[in-house]
Amino acid sequence: MAGLSFRHVEKIYPGNVKAVYDFNLEIEDKEFIVLVGPSGCGKSTTLRMVAGLEEISAGELYIDNRLVNDVLPKDRDIAMVFQDYALYPHMTVYDNMAFGLKLRKTPKDEIDKRIQEAAKILGIGALLTRKPKALSGGQRQRVALGRAIVREPKVFLLDEPLSNLDAKLRAQMRTEITKLHHKLATTFIYVTHDQVEAMTMGTRIVVMKDGFIQQVDTPQNLYDYPANQFVAGFIGTPQMNFFPAKLVESGKSGVAVEFGSHQIKLSKPMQERLIGAKEDYIGKEVILGVRPDDIHDEQIFIESSPDTVIEGYVDVLEKLGSENLLYLNIDGKEGYTIARVDPRSSVQVNTTVKFAIDVKHIHIFDAETQQTMLSMDDGAEKK
Ligand code: ADP
Repeated sequence: MAGLSFRHVEKIYPGNVKAVYDFNLEIEDKEFIVLVGPSGCGKSTTLRMVAGLEEISAGELYIDNRLVNDVLPKDRDIAMVFQDYALYPHMTVYDNMAFGLKLRKTPKDEIDKRIQEAAKILGIGALLTRKPKALSGGQRQRVALGRAIVREPKVFLLDEPLSNLDAKLRAQMRTEITKLHHKLATTFIYVTHDQVEAMTMGTRIVVMKDGFIQQVDTPQNLYDYPANQFVAGFIGTPQMNFFPAKLVESGKSGVAVEFGSHQIKLSKPMQERLIGAKEDYIGKEVILGVRPDDIHDEQIFIESSPDTVIEGYVDVLEKLGSENLLYLNIDGKEGYTIARVDPRSSVQVNTTVKFAIDVKHIHIFDAETQQTMLSMDDGAEKK
């Protein structure tokens, strides 16, 4: 069990390739931290610096209040699970799990006790005498986890451990790893490019892009209060819709977001929460962000939200059983706008339909800096 502290950590590879910039993060004991971001954003490099597999170019890394920059991997009390499992093919499952402990001269009966316990937790008791090639992908993944568990590390590092599994197994292993985290009550750091894995598993998520941390927060806060347009677009499927827009005066003292021929009036509380003085933001170029769930086709919603009604042409309709996805052409926006509606919706393809945007859930980004100017106002306090 251990907390970690990253202080201005940087990584520069030979050839002056800067992979991680000024990485600052405090991880508490027993947290499940997920590093997420597109390929090449520096997630694996960060994890490998924790493991001691990459040198830290600048800054300090503390594990359990101990500076570990120059501590060898084997002395860091961490265990790493890799994407390709890295099992020894000629050894049985039992020997694969025992290997690291034998190297550390752990007594035989202690090794056996730990392997039996780990096998029980992971449900692989019946596989201990098999060799890796006689195992399915999911079973191999469990053995790789088992090999990490028996080490009883202070920190578990997992680098895309599920990406070689099919979709169904991946979903199952997600819940198993979450349960494992509860059972072991140890710090987990998990790297993935998959935002669904990040959202479902992390107690906190670190969103990265081009070597920089974009935001660190709980899954719900990332979804509701993204710090910038990148995070807003990265978290959530289908993606948030973005409209190039402008803030304009509306009526006597109101403010609206204008795009194409549409105007969406902000509620009073939202107007008050807009950052900066009104003279500064009227006329400002912004990006309006609307999630697919916040575009409504229900008559009752449209009637009660006359200030946010827009028209869209339904070009494609996808029926997914539990929901319908509408691909809309909306004046003022290039490309499709996606709306997620009830499967019992009466909306037909190839028709022009009225929709109302749930103004309480819109996001407004500065078009220049892409930073958030306004997010959500559903009356709830940010957690
Ligand atoms: P991610 O895990 O987010 O996909 P990585 O941490 O693997 O990203 O890589 C971050 C950046 O560092 C990328 O631009 C990658 O090309 C570069 N990089 C990774 N490993 C090396 C290396 N050994 N030498 C030089 N550049 C590297």
